[in-house]
Amino acid sequence: MERKPLIAGNWKMNLDLDEAVSLVNAIADSISGFQEVDVLVAPPFTALTAVKQAIGNSKILLGGQNMHWEMSGAFTGEISGKMLQEIGCTHIILGHSERRMLFGETSEVIDLKVKSAVALGLVPILCIGETIEQKEAGQTFEVIEDQLVASLKNFRVNKDLPPSTVLAYEPVWAIGTGLTATPEQAQEVHYFIRKWVENNFDSKLAQQIRILYGGSVKPDNVKELMSETDIDGALVGGASLKSDSFVRLIRFQEV
Ligand code: PEP
Repeated sequence: MERKPLIAGNWKMNLDLDEAVSLVNAIADSISGFQEVDVLVAPPFTALTAVKQAIGNSKILLGGQNMHWEMSGAFTGEISGKMLQEIGCTHIILGHSERRMLFGETSEVIDLKVKSAVALGLVPILCIGETIEQKEAGQTFEVIEDQLVASLKNFRVNKDLPPSTVLAYEPVWAIGTGLTATPEQAQEVHYFIRKWVENNFDSKLAQQIRILYGGSVKPDNVKELMSETDIDGALVGGASLKSDSFVRLIRFQEV
């Protein structure tokens, strides 16, 4: 099955308003009319409205970096999926390793968030990945399976995970470190994830779901990664903050 590649930029807590708008304008200009790849940016909350406006008629998709699972209420400092949707987000990154490790998010909490996002019609980009210690202890597949089981618990009951759902394999040891999984290492884990979806849902869904790779993806390694059967795109941190590198990732077929 043909799955359209998705290149998603996670801007994290970077860029001021002017820089955010300039970046999205530059991306939009460089990919005008280019439809081979879906493109998404996930700016900080405070830049979402300005970036949405700058996106205008361009096909760039807008995502949030995190959300609360409730629609509203006494949750100081939190933002709901509904609020993100109101300002134009169609996607939401959930369970990023920085959320899990720095802010104590558990897979149980992430499960609630994925459930809430899907109920709203937001597309979840669910991140999973092992640490260096887990990798060195030979626990990669066990960790990935545990994270999938716990983060998608709600959906496994009724087997109703939408095919638009995006999974992102992001080995923690490769995020922002300059270390990348080799295409073969990444493909092995992506294949495992797709098989897990097949075994826990069905084979049609497994073929439809996009699985992104994340972890120091750069213009000089993207093509090799994207040539692997089960790698359907990239979730990019550092290289998404400059238009020239991000556009080269989007146009990976031409690199
Ligand atoms: C990320 O944080 O999702 C990420 C993949 O970062 P980087 O590309 O900088 O490794």
